[in-house]
Amino acid sequence: MNKIKCLYLTAGIAASIALSSCEKEYTNYSVSNATLQEYLEKFLYEAESRGVKSLNPQKTGLKMYFGDCDEGAAGVTYYENPIRIVIDKEIWDKYADYADGTSQNEHTVFHELGHGLLYRKHDNSTLSSGEWATMMAGDPLPSGSIPNTNFRGERRTYYLDRLFNPNDKKEPNWAKPTFDDPTESLTKMVDDDFSSTYDASHITLRDAREYTTKISGGEFVFQNKSTNNYIVPLQNVTAVNGSDVYVETEVKIEGSNKIFTLEFGSRDESGQDTKYTYHYMSFYDTRIRLGNTLCYAPYCQIKSPKNIYGDDFVKVGIRKQGDYIYYFVGGECIYKDIVDTNISGTNYGFIVYANSTLRMKNFRIWNDGTVSLYKSSAETEPQIINIEERETHNK
Ligand SMILES: [Zn+2]
Repeated sequence: MNKIKCLYLTAGIAASIALSSCEKEYTNYSVSNATLQEYLEKFLYEAESRGVKSLNPQKTGLKMYFGDCDEGAAGVTYYENPIRIVIDKEIWDKYADYADGTSQNEHTVFHELGHGLLYRKHDNSTLSSGEWATMMAGDPLPSGSIPNTNFRGERRTYYLDRLFNPNDKKEPNWAKPTFDDPTESLTKMVDDDFSSTYDASHITLRDAREYTTKISGGEFVFQNKSTNNYIVPLQNVTAVNGSDVYVETEVKIEGSNKIFTLEFGSRDESGQDTKYTYHYMSFYDTRIRLGNTLCYAPYCQIKSPKNIYGDDFVKVGIRKQGDYIYYFVGGECIYKDIVDTNISGTNYGFIVYANSTLRMKNFRIWNDGTVSLYKSSAETEPQIINIEERETHNK
């Protein structure tokens, strides 16, 4: 039976008769699920739009289905005849609960199809920022790195360009973002310098068994003596959703635990629980992970241009402008991303991890005039926060 007739029949009422004949031709092709079929079609569309028109999994063979992958992998490709791809159903459903679920799941399927249809191997090359240069990052990963890939906005376009045309290794513009003055067109709202005349009445200062908070020698010091991580809100504002803002601080971290997070977002009380939703910039020794808590895991990990665990204070900041968010270290813009979650920005602070000490010289917030500051000690009470160090993992 020729192909055209077969397609016609499978689409019509005579499908059951036609299948017995078609199966001979397409015995090596099955995509078990309409959702996976949709993702496959999207992949073929992206291929075609980049001049790769030769892919024909119906002819060359492919089995793709939801199953159970080992070792926490979101997807696995087996080089069998035909190529077999298993997408982990549990992880798929878990991703879907988060704001970036669609892009995470798309990355999983496209990464596996990169193996299965394009025969791409793992490629752990990086851009100058330290971010993955390809969407085929995978085992064995260089020590200290995480596989997470930001597969949204212009990054998605670039990663697909590179996947289908791997010889074009030009560094994309967004890998070296510029932003001369992050305070541009904003008004300074908070200017905490922690000098002797500083009004600290809104900050909970105490020397407790678990932690010490003090202001001395022109520094705000938070010493976490416990094995818990603490979220320490420093300022609260009333804000209009989506307003533009820049938060900046000069810090250094001491202690055995080389992790520190600067965050801004919102804080919601419900009964006993306080829920924080925030954008974050987390330093892991000499690396930085960026993201927001509405997403499953950090978008990516990049290199830190300055060491905040050294002797000097380092200026770090986050700027939101319209639909974009920019991250700064040492006065340098290190990352630009789209804002895909409308976190209102009413709460500003940091996370001090177990057994480490934060020293802060100043803390400043600029905004576009749509927000106002209020200070309330009750809302700057440090709280224990459980942080799951999540990674997204393909095989
Ligand atoms: Zn892989």
